[in-house]
Amino acid sequence: MSKTKKTFLKLEGGDRRLIGRLWRVYVRPYLATLLLAFLFMTILAAATAAYTWLLKYVVDSMTVGGADLGQDALEQTRNFAIVAVPLVLGLTVVSGFSLFIQSILSNKVALNVVGDLQKSMFASLQKTDFAVLTKTAVGTHVSRFTNDVNLVASALLRAMNNLVRDSLTLLFLIASMFYHNWQLSLIIVLVYPVAILPIIRISKRIRGTSHAAQTQMGRITSLLGESIGGTRMVRSYGLETYESKRLGAAFDERIRLYLKLVTAQARVDPIMEILGGVAIAGVLAFGVFLMASGQASGGELVAVLGAILIAAPRARALGTLNNVVQEGLAALSRIFATIDERPTITERKNAKSLTDVKGKLAFKRVRFQYGDDAQALDGISLTVKPGETIALVGPSGGGKSTLINLIVRLYDVSAGQIEIDGHDIRDVNLASLRGAMALVSQDIVLFDDSVAANIGFGRQDASFDHIEAAAKAAAAHGFIMELPDGYQTRVGEAGNTLSGGQRQRIALARAILRDAPILLLDEATSALDASSEAKVQTALNTLTKGRTVIIIAHRLSTIRSADRICVIDKGTIVEQGSHKDLLKKKGLYAKLHALQFTQN
Ligand code: ADP
Repeated sequence: MSKTKKTFLKLEGGDRRLIGRLWRVYVRPYLATLLLAFLFMTILAAATAAYTWLLKYVVDSMTVGGADLGQDALEQTRNFAIVAVPLVLGLTVVSGFSLFIQSILSNKVALNVVGDLQKSMFASLQKTDFAVLTKTAVGTHVSRFTNDVNLVASALLRAMNNLVRDSLTLLFLIASMFYHNWQLSLIIVLVYPVAILPIIRISKRIRGTSHAAQTQMGRITSLLGESIGGTRMVRSYGLETYESKRLGAAFDERIRLYLKLVTAQARVDPIMEILGGVAIAGVLAFGVFLMASGQASGGELVAVLGAILIAAPRARALGTLNNVVQEGLAALSRIFATIDERPTITERKNAKSLTDVKGKLAFKRVRFQYGDDAQALDGISLTVKPGETIALVGPSGGGKSTLINLIVRLYDVSAGQIEIDGHDIRDVNLASLRGAMALVSQDIVLFDDSVAANIGFGRQDASFDHIEAAAKAAAAHGFIMELPDGYQTRVGEAGNTLSGGQRQRIALARAILRDAPILLLDEATSALDASSEAKVQTALNTLTKGRTVIIIAHRLSTIRSADRICVIDKGTIVEQGSHKDLLKKKGLYAKLHALQFTQN
């Protein structure tokens, strides 16, 4: 039987590794629960097989009773009822109870294993390179945590319920069949193995289709995220029909792929059904012959037939098990790929922890390109003194945001180096590097939590007083107090319930609370109206005092007070100096300034 099982599952080397790893790392911690589940499965299997004895007893005693008409018949019926009825009830109670306990235990194992997989995946995603993470659509990542995890859970449950429980039951049934009448039982052993080859062929086809179906599910998740997330754009541009068509096509594709999958899967059932019929017909024909020649009793024949009938659905389940396991394995390999993603942006072994940061930044012949694209930064050299405010200006696409991405090590330089207080940032421990900085970017991220918590993300140990003080400094206290629950108001997913200016002030409060020596502002005042801009500007002036600041701004009016302005174009610094110097120079800055001046 065990040999048959192996051929049945058709494990290749890679699959064996997947299962081995799943077993060692994720299943073994729940071994005790699993063994307990197996115990109840064994009880259930034995109880199920015991039914065939009951059948044999009933039929044999009836045949005898039937032949013996008269006075004894009544007594025999009574005796029979006294023995058989409690036995039937007892067996059902035992199997019902075992099934209940086993089912809970198996689910407990599967849920825990899958939960641990999710945790491992998420831990890995937290470290995965920004570049890798952003290359794949969010929906595809989400799909790993939802669809793929479900597939693994189903495969695990089926493996426990079918491979273990049903195989055990089959084993007990086959053993009792042989015990009842071995000649009859031989028929079964000859008939069922015929199914193995076609089932393997079918499951190979299923694996490919299943992969396509899962990829499609990931795509649907992405599309839904995009479309629902972009509702404002969709409604205001009247794109409902377009979106419905786009999503409709994806849903249709899902129907097509799943239908293909189900069709392949459904082929297994008739094969098992027909084999069952052949087995029963064989046993009947041969059984009548054996009975006629006195080699089998009616009870034995019925017991073997009963065993086949009880075994059939379980054998069928074993037939379709392979498909589910194949799907689960495909999902598992995607899950492990996510877990195994190794970040390139890591700390060096002897990375130092930054302490008492002065805030000196130095860019030394920094070059950078995104993947194989053109050079985004083409030899930037710049030294920023502690406490200095540097403004980056220039045409869009020049490389300003890229420079900020490099400072916080979302990406690493392709050539050259960036230093903080004289240390190459790659020699510094990541947490202390990022801890020395506060970033306020144009895409403000607010989590669906209270306003206070959203400000508190700036410094996780901050007290409420600190949070309030930061909000006041960011000119946010006023509007926060007007919210329904003040600081405890939930901001709604992605902060949709707040205005752009309000969100920006929360982000600034967060940065103020962080109290980091280096401040990175990427278009920090872009979403503000004139009156709140004035308020935020005051807050910014307080915030920037005594810190090293790198600020990107389109509106040149906001950065006149910067100590130095660097004009960045096509990945290089083309001019630098004070506002006045640069105006006098009549270069790119003067041109940009004139342009904005006429626009305003
Ligand atoms: P700026 O902030 O000055 O507008 P960026 O730093 O955003 O400029 O962009 C510099 C160059 O790098 C541009 O050519 C832009 O297209 C490219 N770029 C920016 N981000 C990415 C990315 N994630 N992948 C590939 N290219 C990018």
